[in-house]
Amino acid sequence: MEKQNKNTFIYWDRVFIALCIFVLIIIFIIMGIRGLISIFSGDKQDKKNVQAVKTGAEVISEGQELLVCIDAGHGGKGDCGALSGDESRFESNDDLNMALAVEKHLKELGADVLMTRNKDTYVELYQRPEIANDADADLYVSLHRNSADTGQGVEVWVNYDAPDDDTLLAKNILEGLDRVGISQNRGVQYGYQGYDPTAKVNYVVNEKSNMPSCLVELGFITDDEDNKLFDENLDAYAKSIAKSIVKTAEELNIIEISNKAVEN
Ligand SMILES: [Zn+2]
Repeated sequence: MEKQNKNTFIYWDRVFIALCIFVLIIIFIIMGIRGLISIFSGDKQDKKNVQAVKTGAEVISEGQELLVCIDAGHGGKGDCGALSGDESRFESNDDLNMALAVEKHLKELGADVLMTRNKDTYVELYQRPEIANDADADLYVSLHRNSADTGQGVEVWVNYDAPDDDTLLAKNILEGLDRVGISQNRGVQYGYQGYDPTAKVNYVVNEKSNMPSCLVELGFITDDEDNKLFDENLDAYAKSIAKSIVKTAEELNIIEISNKAVEN
């Protein structure tokens, strides 16, 4: 009996080792076949997946093109825009920082971006929509910050004629920013700040651009809470604006997207 038990033990031991070797061989064969497939296929989908991992999300479908013009307000020594109460903060710098962040996120989503400026330089006001018109951009978004003795919150301006496409762009951007967190939602505004709405005056960028456009006033530079929110949420605001632009482009049938990740 003792001898038989010992023989049985040795038998199962050998079976176990044989099974381990067999499983290892199968694993190597599968890995080898998968490696060969990836080498010979040159598969675009794999490359796209790698790109998606790198950028976080690539949502504009392959073959679809979206050209967005991002306009950082003001710029250069001659036009620093609005100032904070202590005059230490220039609107032109805030506008540029936000524009650069929006550009980054738009590119991550697969859009092409045209910048009216990408550094602290002066660009003449009427030249800005011309840059977008000449390139036949699909959408135009101008980034600014507000100022007043009192007042806070975010508002987005569109042409006084309230074209549906422009209003949709403004509404999407505002709703996205509201979800990130703003001090006050001041709504979509029509025409030009400070003017009687019946006077029919537009911001130049909304008046002269051929494509759907809006001008975002991203909080008041004269308000401490808005400045704090701007600084703390700069990247989140930029990401939200980029997503809203792509979402609008899809809703306007300019592009198709490969998933619904642009819902923000
Ligand atoms: Zn401005």
